[in-house]
Amino acid sequence: MADVVAQSGPPGHETFDAVVVGAGFAGLYMLHRLRGLGLSACVFEAGGGVGGTWFWNRYPGARCDVESIDYQYSFDGELLRDWVWTERYPRQEELLRYLDHVADRFDLRRDIRLNARVKEATFDETARRWEVRTDRGDRVSAQFAIMATGCLSATKPPDFPGLDSFEGDWFHTGAWPASDVDFSGRRVAVVGTGSSAIQLIPVVAERAAELIVFQRTANFSIPAHNRPYRAGEHDLERYDERRKFVRESFGAMFYPGNRRSALEVSPQEREHEFEERWQYGGLAIYGAFADLLVNAEANATAAAFFAAKIREKVDDPALAALLTPTGFPIGAKRICVDTGYYETLTLDHVRVVDVSASPIREITPAGIRTDDAVYAVDAIVFAIGFDAMTGSLAKIDIRGRGGRALAGEWSAGPRTYLGLGVAGFPNMFIVTGPGSPSVLSNMVVSIEQHVDWIADALVAMRAAGADLIEATREAQDAWVAHVNDVASRTLLPTASSWYMGANIPGKPRLFMPYAGGVGAYREKCDEVAANGYQGFTLTA
Ligand code: FAD
Repeated sequence: MADVVAQSGPPGHETFDAVVVGAGFAGLYMLHRLRGLGLSACVFEAGGGVGGTWFWNRYPGARCDVESIDYQYSFDGELLRDWVWTERYPRQEELLRYLDHVADRFDLRRDIRLNARVKEATFDETARRWEVRTDRGDRVSAQFAIMATGCLSATKPPDFPGLDSFEGDWFHTGAWPASDVDFSGRRVAVVGTGSSAIQLIPVVAERAAELIVFQRTANFSIPAHNRPYRAGEHDLERYDERRKFVRESFGAMFYPGNRRSALEVSPQEREHEFEERWQYGGLAIYGAFADLLVNAEANATAAAFFAAKIREKVDDPALAALLTPTGFPIGAKRICVDTGYYETLTLDHVRVVDVSASPIREITPAGIRTDDAVYAVDAIVFAIGFDAMTGSLAKIDIRGRGGRALAGEWSAGPRTYLGLGVAGFPNMFIVTGPGSPSVLSNMVVSIEQHVDWIADALVAMRAAGADLIEATREAQDAWVAHVNDVASRTLLPTASSWYMGANIPGKPRLFMPYAGGVGAYREKCDEVAANGYQGFTLTA
């Protein structure tokens, strides 16, 4: 991996047309588009390499749960033709290689500054420019500030008392070391049973002498049925059709959506539909029936199907019951995709501890103490997730008009227009921000749509002779009301999920992404652009 840190001399005060924060899928493509418009740009990236999520999340078993051919850029035909994915669901290592390849192929690195965390971004109303500062002393002025900071990039830190005293090694899945971590013959604890844990547990269990899984909430998981790609699966002629389908779909994934209700078909037909999607693998189950996420009774049929599947895989009835989610509708927390998760939990050297019944009290020098037991371990893996959607923005002191802080504006929850712009923060864009489909979708498709929309807006500004674009408060209020209204007509806000901010103490509880679907959202964004950026003011 060629981690060339592109620098322009010692940090000083420099001027660009745009500053981009973050060099994951979003920041890399944004830089490419800005260059294409003839704009100068500087990308700041906190990590020591490009790739974002796929740079940081190197834990054993880390994988994408969207199929490779859909979870890739589509903006360049030659890139599409040249890059051949090896598996249906790509591993972290393959995704990082892909993003490194993109950075090299489009010569992006010379405008990317690594190991540079943006701490402040202030809109100077007189100069009509953003002043951006990093933790290593960069001071940059730019007309546009584009936040490509990621929705799952601010890890939730483990805050268990006594962690400092732990004499073994501990890790967070979201900030995994680049060097190999060998769990061979060790006693390992995994705290958390969300998506990352469900991917990691089967792989760690292969080496560990003993694996103890601390579960607070059981999650729904479906087999990936991962496999190597067959020759011809990258057929580009059909690829265009596939991408069009994906762009116009609900979640930007390639599976058919059934328009019928789960309640209007016979139990046999319902079972058949679920079974077919279970065998297909991955997130296709979301499309099994039209009302799974809106009707509790319909949802319960899917939950019952999953519960039966868990019982088939786990003979011990007490363990099966412990692993069966209760108390929230299926899909209201992200459905996980696994390879051998339930099977692993039945192995002799693997144990599941129910920390909803007996919470973790402290970390001791030798392990973990819950209310009723002490577990001696050599290593702890915290798979406890992220301060999703707003966490990475909250870590930057962002100041808009009148010196108003974004943190203050969002103290009761994030407010955006289309997830792209914020009233009072001119010339600032967010890629896949709250109020856009974002984490409810295949994010590469959503990222491409946002970046293209932003690039088109910059072109429109240039044509109109405008130097400022800003969401109006009215448009923002109306959009926030619409986002809340759409969510309230679904079961999504009924779970204590990270979509709701419920995993972070003190975070306002509201459903952050837009649940209207990627296709409908794209139409809305296109309509806004076609109507002269309706809801934004463009001024000169
Ligand atoms: P990121 O990839 O998160 O990149 C943002 C970058 O910004 C990071 O590198 C970060 O270091 C940097 N940054 C943040 N703040 C600052 C700052 N202040 N200064 C400088 N740099 C900063 N999505 C899917 O669609 N399908 C999946 O299957 C899927 N699986 C996932 C699995 C895991 C384990 C995780 C964590 C996420 C997954 N996601 C998945 C979501 C994933 O984040 C997106 O798909 C995508 O990679 C986001 O790209 P991004 O560029 O928007 O953000």
